[in-house]
Amino acid sequence: MPGTSVSVLELSPYTNYTFTVEARNGVSNQSPLRSVASTIAYVNETEPPKVTSIIMEKQEKSSLTLTWTVPGRQMRSVTGYKLMYSKKVDQQTYTVLQSSSNSVMVSDLLPGTVYVFRVQALTHDGAGFYSETHEFHTLEEKAETNWVSLAAGIGVAGVVVLLVIGFICIRRRKRNSRARQGPEDIYFTKHPDQLKPLKTYVDPHTYEDPNQAVLKFADEILPSAITKQKVIGAGEFGEVYKGTLKKGRKDISVAIKILKVGYTESQRIDYLSEASIMGQFSHHNVIHLEGVVTKYKPLMIITEYMENGALDAYLRNNDGEFSSLQLVGMLRGISSGMKYLSDMNYVHRDLAARNILVNSQLVCKVSDFGLSRVLEDDTEGTYTTSGGKIPIRWTAPEAIAYRKFTSASDVWSFGIVMWEVLSYGERPYWEMSNHEVMKSINEGFRLPAPMECPSAIYQLMMQCWQQERAKRPKFGDVVNILDKLIRSPESLKSIADFDPRVSIRLPSTSGCDGMIFRTVTEWLESIKMGQYLENFQAAGYSTMEHIVQLTPEDVTVVGVRLPGHQKRIAFSILGLQEQASSMGVYTV
Ligand code: AMP
Repeated sequence: MPGTSVSVLELSPYTNYTFTVEARNGVSNQSPLRSVASTIAYVNETEPPKVTSIIMEKQEKSSLTLTWTVPGRQMRSVTGYKLMYSKKVDQQTYTVLQSSSNSVMVSDLLPGTVYVFRVQALTHDGAGFYSETHEFHTLEEKAETNWVSLAAGIGVAGVVVLLVIGFICIRRRKRNSRARQGPEDIYFTKHPDQLKPLKTYVDPHTYEDPNQAVLKFADEILPSAITKQKVIGAGEFGEVYKGTLKKGRKDISVAIKILKVGYTESQRIDYLSEASIMGQFSHHNVIHLEGVVTKYKPLMIITEYMENGALDAYLRNNDGEFSSLQLVGMLRGISSGMKYLSDMNYVHRDLAARNILVNSQLVCKVSDFGLSRVLEDDTEGTYTTSGGKIPIRWTAPEAIAYRKFTSASDVWSFGIVMWEVLSYGERPYWEMSNHEVMKSINEGFRLPAPMECPSAIYQLMMQCWQQERAKRPKFGDVVNILDKLIRSPESLKSIADFDPRVSIRLPSTSGCDGMIFRTVTEWLESIKMGQYLENFQAAGYSTMEHIVQLTPEDVTVVGVRLPGHQKRIAFSILGLQEQASSMGVYTV
């Protein structure tokens, strides 16, 4: 090929490809030296699939058979479909069916009624775009009555009713202990294999007996199938172990959460509610529940094992070691998991890097589900005047002020997670007190861009922190924006200004109750950085006068000498200067 560029199509996503280019001319064959260069690249994302047309194959009085298509190149990633339909006259109430094939019979429809349909293709990475809306109507019921066929019809209907009743009884008996007093299934299908119902999330507390919820949503595992290996963490309810689970002939790695002895009934219910919630989800970026042990003691919740543990600690232990593209890839995964959860009408309320788990492939998964438990269990939870515990630094103002928790407040928290990820696990708002955080946010201040943060990513964070929740992007928008950035990595090259001065003030880092520090040692110790005194002295900053006169450029000089803590130092210094200059918002 003569040119110096080529487009390589039809590559598989998430696969490493090595490209080697050799320059050749008329005498290349004569020379032992070759002029070659190689690079490794991979396609992170492919275009989300979109269903392009829906066709009605068969029309009956109470059913319609539909088929649809997805462009050939997108077919490979499709794992199933979600079909949504409603009566045209009442589009608020709709039914969702999940199908593994591109053809379904939708039954139990009303005769002579217009229905609207939309289909979405599903992939391991979440759902693709919605198709256009298509309208189809069922056949009219015949007006004239033929008494002979009516009698025959009644006979047939009688048999059908008996069959259905029989079927329901058998199903109930099969479920035996699974009989429940909670909400009924919304969807019913004659082809369970082909048409799996996709439920919106069901709150286990709506069950009269919440213990029944866990039986419905989680598989019971025998303790003999589980082997504990070592303790990997601790939660409010007890220890978390790494271990194995026998699954068929294979042993898989799992995390085992144990409910410690001496629990109360309400702790047991809260503990199991996490499994009831997790068991309803199935997504690549949401932690997967293997099952529960409830019939033997101790009670256990078994989930997939995530080799790299919690995201905040993982980033802190690997400070500065990832490319922007990798960090954005992590965020893309989290947003995709959150989109799935919000589509299921699940509001997380405690989205934070500490509640994201990372596996050996760097796949991030949303975890830590619960209801009342969620926030009780979190050391960040603080009681507010409106009652209940709330992790202030991660929570949207309207959720703090009047407990308005929605997917839009989860989007705010996602913005904080973005900030945590780009700053490698830095604590949001550093040492500011919760009260100071709330005050600053209400006054319109926002976290400044982390160091080396791509501008596009900082802009997205700021969108997530819009005061008016309707203006924040939806998780679907966030996934699309991150996808676009990942597809053109050069868009991540422009870096946001690392200039905390106009963004935020940090009163709590500027000394206790207005007291100015007398020596550099005193100040460094107050911010738990006493061990860096020598670095400061070596850089010529030996008195508080020097410190107060530092400029951002000096901070960088000091920062370079203090890898890992440079950000915190930078802000501490600026906080101090702010106090010295007694200005609301610090300017040098
Ligand atoms: P949790 O009670 O869910 O907050 O878990 C406490 C700690 O246990 C977490 O911070 C993780 O370090 C660890 N952990 C929990 N679940 C898993 C898992 N599925 N894989 C690996 N580590 C986990």
